[in-house]
Amino acid sequence: MTDVSMTRLSASDAGFDDALSRLLAWEDSVDHQVNESVRHILGEVKLRGDQAVLEFTAKFDQLEVASMAELEMSITRMEQALERIPAEQREALEAAAGRIRDYHQRQKQDSWQYEDVDGTVLGQKVTPLDRVGIYVPGGKAAYPSSVLMNAIPAKVAGVSEVVMVVPTPAGVVNDMVLAAAVIAGVDRVFTLGGAQAVGALAYGTETVPAVDKIVGPGNIFVATAKREVFGTVGIDMIAGPSEILVICDGKTDPDWIAMDLFSQAEHDEQAQSILISPDGAFLDAVEASIRKLLPTMERADIIARSLSDRGALIKVRDLEEAAKVSNRIAPEHLELSVEEPRSLVEKIRHAGAIFMGRYTAEALGDYCAGPNHVLPTSGTARFSSPLGVYDFQKRSSLIGFSAAGADRMGRVASVLSRGEGLTAHARSAEYRIRDEG
Ligand code: NAD
Repeated sequence: MTDVSMTRLSASDAGFDDALSRLLAWEDSVDHQVNESVRHILGEVKLRGDQAVLEFTAKFDQLEVASMAELEMSITRMEQALERIPAEQREALEAAAGRIRDYHQRQKQDSWQYEDVDGTVLGQKVTPLDRVGIYVPGGKAAYPSSVLMNAIPAKVAGVSEVVMVVPTPAGVVNDMVLAAAVIAGVDRVFTLGGAQAVGALAYGTETVPAVDKIVGPGNIFVATAKREVFGTVGIDMIAGPSEILVICDGKTDPDWIAMDLFSQAEHDEQAQSILISPDGAFLDAVEASIRKLLPTMERADIIARSLSDRGALIKVRDLEEAAKVSNRIAPEHLELSVEEPRSLVEKIRHAGAIFMGRYTAEALGDYCAGPNHVLPTSGTARFSSPLGVYDFQKRSSLIGFSAAGADRMGRVASVLSRGEGLTAHARSAEYRIRDEG
């Protein structure tokens, strides 16, 4: 039987801060070989376009085709996928898509402007990006939910063309992924993956159009390639392993909490699941549930490894102290499994998504609650936010001076630019001052 042993910590222990820091640290070491390999792939794609993409696809995805056209999914093929999947899958995808769309509609930013006393107009013009690439992972598993979470906000923002890439190892195409693409309104789909797909989207090839921004999760080759092409295109974020932090008052069924911890741990061995409670006996009860339920899990080995290496059960004095520890961690997912989640939310400052109350399993947020499941990891919730419509919109400043405004502010600009020694700036402003003609 798979064994699991979780780290136990108490916030009142002298060495707690150091122990927590060690627990949160993860192997972010930039792998030299991966870097080299990704740079080589990107360089070749930039130089040789389609031909290089075809060669890397044959090498890494065991998919040999004669031309890039064969790697683009036709509208007919995509619609067939939608028709072919079981009705319950189609209904679930449509239900999730509807809720994700409704939620994201509320994030849309509008242009605005206002007028000064002298008739000068100032404002902000909001426009969607023209063309966006979404990376949908497909090496080891298929992720239709990632299609919805990445493509729908782009479409809500008004992006004209969403180009999706998804690897299909040995040519095996996942119908649910294609069906999700149709439902989300994706415009073009290429069955490409890894650094070669990121390179094709960033630089463009004879067949794949160059995009303005690339979003979506992926393995180390994808993440490294996104980091490399940043600047040529925009990117959303570089995501680390997934995390969940549960704060529980000790009154939720321990089996529920154990399964919530498993739901992150099953992603991969590096995922992190932490439970904080003021009730020591409850921590024991959850640990017993973990041992009881683990053998029933399909991914028991991955879960056991993740919980043993990076998981923890933390005892705190009270919920106030739990919130302080949580703010220090700044988790990707935070479950507040307590009687009064709303009052606890007041004390939370850093978290990607906050799940309020005993019935709000994080898994619901992963698929169909409505908010985005692409969230900041590894403490980056201190300074960043979930993927949203705002990631697909940009802003231009609007400035329109009246003659009176140019006269008034021209004097200010003249003094400042002469102070900086920039005479052309000063004279350009001064021409528009009335008595200077
Ligand atoms: P992937 O699509 O990210 O990677 C597959 C590609 O990797 C292949 O197409 C291949 O080109 C490339 N590759 C593999 N070995 C290579 C090598 N030796 N050299 C060069 N390129 C190589 O699929 P995956 O591997 O299954 O990884 C998916 C990742 O995405 C997982 O880590 C998963 O946890 C993560 N994920 C995150 C979220 C989220 O929302 N945060 C959602 C879904 C998946």
